[in-house]
Amino acid sequence: MRVLSWGVTVAIGVAIGALVWSFAPARLPVTAPAGDLQLQRPQPPADMRIGVFLAGRMQSQALFAYRGGDLAARDFGMDVVVVEHPSGTLLFDAGFGRRVADHLHTLPWLMRQMSKIVPETPVVDQLAGASLSPQTLAGVVLTHAHWDHVSGLDDLRGVPVWINQTELDFIRDGGAPTALARELGDLDYRVYAFESGPYWGFPASHDVFGDGSVVLVPAGGHSPGSIIAFVHTPDGRSYALIGDLAWQHEGVDIPAERPWISRLLVDEDPPTVRHALATLHLLQQADPDLVVVPAHDRRVMQTLPPATRADALLRGP
Ligand SMILES: [Zn+2]
Repeated sequence: MRVLSWGVTVAIGVAIGALVWSFAPARLPVTAPAGDLQLQRPQPPADMRIGVFLAGRMQSQALFAYRGGDLAARDFGMDVVVVEHPSGTLLFDAGFGRRVADHLHTLPWLMRQMSKIVPETPVVDQLAGASLSPQTLAGVVLTHAHWDHVSGLDDLRGVPVWINQTELDFIRDGGAPTALARELGDLDYRVYAFESGPYWGFPASHDVFGDGSVVLVPAGGHSPGSIIAFVHTPDGRSYALIGDLAWQHEGVDIPAERPWISRLLVDEDPPTVRHALATLHLLQQADPDLVVVPAHDRRVMQTLPPATRADALLRGP
């Protein structure tokens, strides 16, 4: 009995030690040569632009976002990037919607306990301030279909939702991570394919407007059909909207993956996430004009122009 107790004590000690270690700083290996990334830059239309709607936030700690993060409280934004292009205006993800408090019930118990949500103005109620309306949108492009990215779709009925077949299958497969997307019912899903070749270090691509200004690439791992949207603006900047590959920009800067407990809760395929983080790290080094935008990094989102700024109000519909 005494031996068994010792054994149990040691096992518990090892488990606690492993859990603590899983939060410790650990830099991901970066091996691919930057020279193979082929960073062609298009000439976007002069009147194209990018902006952001701040549409909710959640309070958490960097500790849970990347290995080596600290315990200080940090706001995780639930924000919506808007790209206005002569051929159409797109939102990227939908932020927290008007009924976000109701939507929480679709989360597993543990995630509900960890989710301290702070609603802000839902994107549907901010569109008018940017001279937009749901009817003027060409669609919402989902980086992926987790609840915090689709909640605002509840308020945008009738707006096309652009998604790839892999992520649509992920919704329809019936798993817990996409319970809210199913609960929202029949949305106007439009399926696109990655019909073009490799792009900026990723294996395939979809050129949304045909001019290279907005290019979607597959980057599954957080969810099977997760994507990155590369957006190139006329001022020479490029943005990589990386969804939840990293929750905070340190995940790409270091690069460092989420700690084990976070990976367990949210990532479908952690090795694929690691590979994408390493590729983004190389891209960031190769192109100083690239802004990597994690969907939940409020600090980065606040560097984008507000979608509701004064010249948008003057521009008219
Ligand atoms: Zn998310």
